[in-house]
Amino acid sequence: MNLRSAWDGWVDSAVRPRVAIVRFLPVAGSRIIGAIVAANLVAGALPVAFVVATSVVIGRVPAAVDGGLGSPAWDSLVLAFVLAALAFLASQALAPVLVALNAALRRRVDGHLRDQIFELTARTTSIAPLEDAEVLDELAETSRQFDNDWHTPGQAAGGMLALVARYSSLVAFCALLSASASWWSGPVVLGATMVFRYGNRGGLRKYSRVWRTVMPASRSYDYLRELAMGEVAAKETRVFGLDDWLGGRYTDTHWKVFGPVAAARRRIYSYPYLGYTAFGVLVASVVVVDTGLAAASGEISLTALALALQATTAAIALGGYYPEADTGSQFGMRAVEALTRLRERIENYEATERAIARPVRTDVDVTRLPSTSLRLADVAFAYPGSERVVLDGLELEIPAGRSTAIVGVNGAGKTTLVKLLTRLYEPIRGAILADGVDIAELDPVAWRRQVSVIFQDFVRLELSAADNIALGAVHAPRDEDALWEAARRAGIAEALEDLPAGLDTPLARAYEGGIDLSGGQWQRIAIARSLYAVAHGARVLVLDEPTSALDVRAEVAFFDRFVELTRGVTSILVSHRFSSVRRADHVVVIEHGKVVEQGSHAELTAADGTYARLFRLQAERFAQGLDAEGEHPDYADPDAVVDLAEVAE
Ligand code: ADP
Repeated sequence: MNLRSAWDGWVDSAVRPRVAIVRFLPVAGSRIIGAIVAANLVAGALPVAFVVATSVVIGRVPAAVDGGLGSPAWDSLVLAFVLAALAFLASQALAPVLVALNAALRRRVDGHLRDQIFELTARTTSIAPLEDAEVLDELAETSRQFDNDWHTPGQAAGGMLALVARYSSLVAFCALLSASASWWSGPVVLGATMVFRYGNRGGLRKYSRVWRTVMPASRSYDYLRELAMGEVAAKETRVFGLDDWLGGRYTDTHWKVFGPVAAARRRIYSYPYLGYTAFGVLVASVVVVDTGLAAASGEISLTALALALQATTAAIALGGYYPEADTGSQFGMRAVEALTRLRERIENYEATERAIARPVRTDVDVTRLPSTSLRLADVAFAYPGSERVVLDGLELEIPAGRSTAIVGVNGAGKTTLVKLLTRLYEPIRGAILADGVDIAELDPVAWRRQVSVIFQDFVRLELSAADNIALGAVHAPRDEDALWEAARRAGIAEALEDLPAGLDTPLARAYEGGIDLSGGQWQRIAIARSLYAVAHGARVLVLDEPTSALDVRAEVAFFDRFVELTRGVTSILVSHRFSSVRRADHVVVIEHGKVVEQGSHAELTAADGTYARLFRLQAERFAQGLDAEGEHPDYADPDAVVDLAEVAE
C-alpha cells in the first residue's frame, strides 16, 4: 500500500465519520454544546490542578517536617493539600453533571437521526429499496445501535466533545513536563501518547469494521432469535417440535456472526496492542529515568520531580483505550456511516425514479378518478434484479363503478398487478390509465387516496379497533358514525359492540383490556378499513385475497355480500378460488402474465375454457363439502377448500 492510499484510507475511516458526527452537533442547540464544552474544559483542567497541587504537597514535605506544625512550610503544605482535595472533589461533582449534559445531547442527536432513518425508509414511491438486501444491511447496521440505545451516534457526539477534556489535559501535562524536567520530555511524551492512542483507536476502528462483513449473518441471527423467542412462531415451534432445530440454527448463525468477530478481535488486539503499549511504556521509562537522574544530581527540585513523574504517567494514560467512551464513539460513528450509505442508496433509487418520472399533471382533478375506467395498456413488469417477466404485455379494461374479479393460479401475477395499480412499483413497459390519464403522471399520494387496498398480508395494528379502521382515511378527521357504519357493513360491528371498551378496545391481548381477534375477524376489520376509505373519497376498492382465512362457503357468502355492498364503487376482487367470484360483474383470468379470458361468469362458463374447467373442479369439491355437512356455511368441511395451486398441477 503506498502512502497516498494509506492516507486516503485513514481520512475515509477516521476523519470523515468524525466530521459527520460534528456536523450533527448543532441539532443539540448551542446552549447544550456550550455547556458541554465548558464542562469538559473544566474536567480537563481539574486533574492537572490535582497533579500540580499534589506535587507541591510532596515538594513541601521535607521543609514542613523540618519546620514542624504551624511553620510557614507546614501551612503551605496544608494549603496545597486542600487545593488538591478541592480539585478532586470538583471533578467528582462534575462527573454527574457531564453525564446529564451528555444524555441531553445524545437524546437530541439520536432523535434527529432516528427521524432521518424513518424519513429515508418512507421516501421512495416504490417499495423496491426495502426489498434490496444491501439496503437492508445498511438499515440493520444503523438502526441496530438505535434499537439497543447503545453506542449510538449521540454517544459518539458526546465522545467527540469529551476529547476537549482529554486533549487539553494532555497538552497541559506535557507543557508542565517540559517546564519541570527537560524541555524535550514534553514533546516526546506527547508524541508517544499520540502513537499509543493511534494504536488503540486504530485497532478499535479495524475491529468495528468486521461487523460490516457479518451484517447479512447478523440479520439472520436477529431473525432466528425473534423466531425462537417471539410469539409469532411459538405455535409452530411447539407443534412441529422445532425447538432443537431452531436452537441448532441459532447457535450456527451465532458463530457465523461472532466467529469472525472473535478472530478479528484476537488478531487486532493481541500483538499490535501489546506492541503499542510497550512503546508507550518504553518512552515513558526513558523520560522517567532522565528526570530521576536530573533530580538525583540536584538539577531539579523534589516538586519538579513529583510533577514530572505524575505528568508523564497521566499523559501516557490519556492515550489508553477507554472501553466505554471509545467503543461508544466508534460504533456510534459506524452507525452514522451506515446511515450515510443508506442515504446514498435510497437517493440512487430516488434518482432512478426521477429519471423515469413524468411531470405531475396539475390539470387533472385526481379526486374524480376514475369515473369511467381503469385501463392497463400493454403493461409489462419484472421485479428488480429478477429475469422473470411477471406481467407480459397485459391488456385490461376495468369499468368504473362495477365489480371486476381477477382470478388466476398462485404466482400468476395478481398481487403484482395490485402493486402496480398503487404505484408500489412502476411498469417497465406500458401504462395504467385512469380515465385515459396515465397514473404515472399523478401525484402518488393523491392517487393512492383514490385506491383502497386490502392486501393479502394486510397490517394488523396493535392499536384500538377505531384506529385500525380509521387509518383507512388518515387524512380525514375521525368520524364515529362512519366507523360504525364501516364495521357494520364489514360484518364486525356486533363483535365490536360486545367489547369492553367498544371501538377503543386495543386489538392485542398484550395491552390492558385488549383482546385477540380470529383471522376471519381481522379480515373483516381490514375490510371495514377499506370501506371507511371509500366513505372518505376512495373510488377504487381492491381486495387481494382478503378472505383466505375464510373457508370456501364463507368466502362465497362474503363476495356475494361484498358485491352488493359496494355497488357503484369500482371494486377489484383478486382470488385464486374460481368458485368464489362468480357474482362479480366482470371476471378476468390471468395466466403467464397476460389476460387469457374475460367476460361475465355466464359467458366464461359457456366458453368452456380455463375458467370453466377450474370453476367446475372447485365447485364440485365445494358441493361435496355442502352435501357432507349440510350445515351453517361458516363451518365447511376443510376438504372442500381447494387451493387452486393444487388443482392446477
Ligand atoms: P399472485 O398474486 O398471482 O399469486 P404474485 O403477483 O404475488 O402472484 O407473484 C407473481 C410472481 O412474482 C411470482 O413468481 C413471485 O414469486 C414473484 N414475486 C412476487 N413478489 C416478488 C418480489 N418482491 N421480488 C421478486 N419476485 C417477486
